[in-house]
Amino acid sequence: MIATSMSFEKFIPTRLIFGSGSLDALHRVRFPGTRALLLTSSGSSVKRNGTLERVEKQLQRAGVSYEIFPGIEANPLNRNINEGAAFAVTHRCDFIIALGGGSVMDAGKCIATAATNGGDFWDYMRAGTGKSRPITIAPLPLICITTTAGTGSEIDRGAALTNEVTQEKLGLKTEELYPVLSIADPELTLTVPPSYTLYQGFDALSHCMEGYVSHQANVMCDIFAIAGVEHVGRHLARAVKNGSDLDAREHVLLGSSLAGMVMSTGGVTSLHALEDTLSGFHHDLPHGAGLIILARAYFGHMIERHVCDERFIRLARALGMEQASKPGDFLTALSALLTDCGADGLAMSDYGITPDEFAKTVSYAKTVSARLFTHDLQPLSDDDCHAILVKSYR
Ligand SMILES: [Zn+2]
Repeated sequence: MIATSMSFEKFIPTRLIFGSGSLDALHRVRFPGTRALLLTSSGSSVKRNGTLERVEKQLQRAGVSYEIFPGIEANPLNRNINEGAAFAVTHRCDFIIALGGGSVMDAGKCIATAATNGGDFWDYMRAGTGKSRPITIAPLPLICITTTAGTGSEIDRGAALTNEVTQEKLGLKTEELYPVLSIADPELTLTVPPSYTLYQGFDALSHCMEGYVSHQANVMCDIFAIAGVEHVGRHLARAVKNGSDLDAREHVLLGSSLAGMVMSTGGVTSLHALEDTLSGFHHDLPHGAGLIILARAYFGHMIERHVCDERFIRLARALGMEQASKPGDFLTALSALLTDCGADGLAMSDYGITPDEFAKTVSYAKTVSARLFTHDLQPLSDDDCHAILVKSYR
């Protein structure tokens, strides 16, 4: 047994319906209201692939009325939240259905909160230029129907939001944000293209890996984290190479939901702080791509300092390297997975990032996401962060 904290708090009040074909059960659930705000992304792949129509049929069958708000951008913006909340109030919606990936589900959490509490949603953020305004009124009940396998947002209490004015990307984590019900149907992920399958899947994997080697780790979080790494790590390459491999999709989506449970019982590290800063400054850098670019240098730094040798060996085994015997084996297993997924070509420079912005990146990450740096098993100095960025740069 690997030593861990035997103290934990687990509160995940979301009913999760998981399984291929589970979307067809939607009409049978007890809805938390009579009039839904149905949120989708502005790209609206759910319209093209028929998922939106399936959801509408389920709602019609259940006798639930709804209004569609298709205005959520990738990396949701604060203005999307304020617009969505105003739309919900105007149309007298009494619950929200978020149909989409992490961006739409996170936006659903924020809109549900803004619709009942009012004001500019950014005021409720608790870092950066947010004003830590308290959430005093219960948000509208939220149902999430995830169409991607990545954030685990369908089962956690977090949301990431970008302020288009100040260029900040911040997370908000609070119990009020839990969905009341989530549907995770792997069939809905079959049409996700290979690159996004990779980025989103790696995000889930990173949540599990970071959670496992952080100060937030505990016996409950460890259980979710190791299982999540096994399910995502051993099936992601198959899902990337053949999107219609439903078996692989099922395992990756399950791993993603487990990653959400990691976020609910533990937390991520400064790897996420550094990435959120990069993708906050460079909107076209997908979150998961940024994590892939930084992960080896970040974990390599921790491995060189022997912060938790046994845990890295355990992670390597979870990734499928059963014979792993030293912490460095984790980097070997991780690199093999990324190569297998075709991720070797990812480079910061392709997203317009230049080394002369690293000093700004580090100071910004350390200020805005200071909390995540306290989760690292060994504190990272500014120079350490800079070195991780330089090592990751191509
Ligand atoms: Zn993430």
